[in-house]
Amino acid sequence: MDAQALRLRGRTRPRPLPPYRRAPADSARPRIEGDGLLGVGHALEARRRHLRLVPPLSGTDPPRVRRDRRRGRIRHRRRVPVRRRDPARSAVAHRALSRRRASCTAPRDGRRPPAVGGDAADGGARQDAVSGANRAAGLLVAIAVALACAGCTRRDAPTGTPYARVAAPVALVVVDGLDARDVAGDMPELTRAWRESAWCPGAHGRAAMPARTNVNHATLATGVYPEMHGITGNVFWARTADPPRKLGAAADFLTETVFTVAAAHDPPLRTALAVGKPKLELMFAATAAGHAVPDDVWSPKDAPSSGRDAATGYATDAATLAGARRLLENGPAFVLVNLADVDRVSHAAGPHSGEAQATRRATDRELAAFVHDVLARPGWREGTIVVTADHGFDATTHPAIDVGAMLRDAGLADAFVVVPDGGVAHVYTRETPRAAATTLKAARQRALAQEGVAEALYRAFNREDDWYDHMIDHVHPDWHVVNVRTGDLLLVTAPGYTFAASDGEDAHLRGNHGAPAETDVPVVALGGVASGDHCDEIHAADVGRTVLGCLGLPDVARLDGGPIPPQSQGRVLRGLCKTAIATAVPTP
Ligand SMILES: [Zn+2]
Ligand SMILES: [Zn+2]
Repeated sequence: MDAQALRLRGRTRPRPLPPYRRAPADSARPRIEGDGLLGVGHALEARRRHLRLVPPLSGTDPPRVRRDRRRGRIRHRRRVPVRRRDPARSAVAHRALSRRRASCTAPRDGRRPPAVGGDAADGGARQDAVSGANRAAGLLVAIAVALACAGCTRRDAPTGTPYARVAAPVALVVVDGLDARDVAGDMPELTRAWRESAWCPGAHGRAAMPARTNVNHATLATGVYPEMHGITGNVFWARTADPPRKLGAAADFLTETVFTVAAAHDPPLRTALAVGKPKLELMFAATAAGHAVPDDVWSPKDAPSSGRDAATGYATDAATLAGARRLLENGPAFVLVNLADVDRVSHAAGPHSGEAQATRRATDRELAAFVHDVLARPGWREGTIVVTADHGFDATTHPAIDVGAMLRDAGLADAFVVVPDGGVAHVYTRETPRAAATTLKAARQRALAQEGVAEALYRAFNREDDWYDHMIDHVHPDWHVVNVRTGDLLLVTAPGYTFAASDGEDAHLRGNHGAPAETDVPVVALGGVASGDHCDEIHAADVGRTVLGCLGLPDVARLDGGPIPPQSQGRVLRGLCKTAIATAVPTP
């Protein structure tokens, strides 16, 4: 008997494949189909995209319950990230978050919480003497108390915790809508500072996509990309019976913000916020989910009527900077400033108009005086002022594109909810994306036939339209904007165009932003800075994460306790501030 026959005899008799594994021999379909084995058989990169973590909508499900398409609601496995820099935090964060609301009602009489390893009076030395176990236990209590206070108000924060104050103060000044291309001509003071800065002279930053105000303020205040913090636009549709709504209130965040982290981890560290737009005060309000407000807030309602634009209610830059100066009297370690004039005038008159140029010149003068005064303050010798923008700007030279009307003409209106948002438009299917594969393809093709639509990208794969080829993550892996709140089809304008309903208030703006052409922003660091590296690839998320590091604070955490993958986080920009902490933060 030959060897081949021997081998065959030893094998069990082959049985027919079960029906679900059988496929017609002449099938031209891809190997992966229907509901089974998602992503298996595809390249590693495609599988990673498919299985990436998308945080659930807050409020739709109770904490620690996640929705599974096939099996309904299942218990969330405990997945608490371990952070090298602060291992104790991950172990208690989850428990503390759930206790937070209950603790809000506890009486507060100004007494200190149980101190970490002893009284703050003999702070450092005493703490070193306690055993590791005691220290860990103390830390749990301190963090739980701090988190509990974050859920109430910032001013309830206990004082006297022995966190070392190693950070120099940081001011982050966001000139709303200042495109890097418009700085040189009209802003001589900022241009000089930009070119002569010891840190990354002339550095351009990249705003988060979509290049909208809320998206980028959220990114700067968290150090993570929109896919994680969940502010994916100024507006969105929650896929419910309710119509689309504004996005960007504090309760919309899926992660902590810098103010929340400061309140939880370093209560004595004082923070401040001075904003020209009222909505940004709401972005950093306290919430039941645990968001803390800054210690001191200045918003347009604090401005005299002469310091407010009557049409928009925005404060003028002069009034906002005067407000910020007042807040600095309280000695904050961090202040976030939003200057609204450039954005407001560029929308109304166009970014290249005489009005916009004059506004930039005025903002330049006021900002230069502010920077000079702040850096001359006693506590600011080592402090850093970062001047940047939330997004750039483009002149709108063509009539607005009304995507709703466009889909109506194509007989597709009933299938979709359209949410225009400046340079992008989110198109949500009323069915599941899987069931709507064909109608989504039709909508995409109709959109691409429209003059002024540069790109039309799917949130998830479309098996009727080249699978992964037109996915946002596939075409723009650097955007990190795919979240359940992102449209199933994301339309992007070419320069000169904008999306708006023809009866909407945005339809007649002379300038707008949102598309990739409006993501070029200046990043100017002044004061206590050193030379930087990788200066040509700075993202808004990098600036946000670095600010946390400069203040000696840990990274933000997800509110549902889930992990934040390194690719969803900004990197640390070396040299942006001189404190030891900032240079000790690991770069992913
Ligand atoms: Zn803006
Ligand atoms: Zn704007």
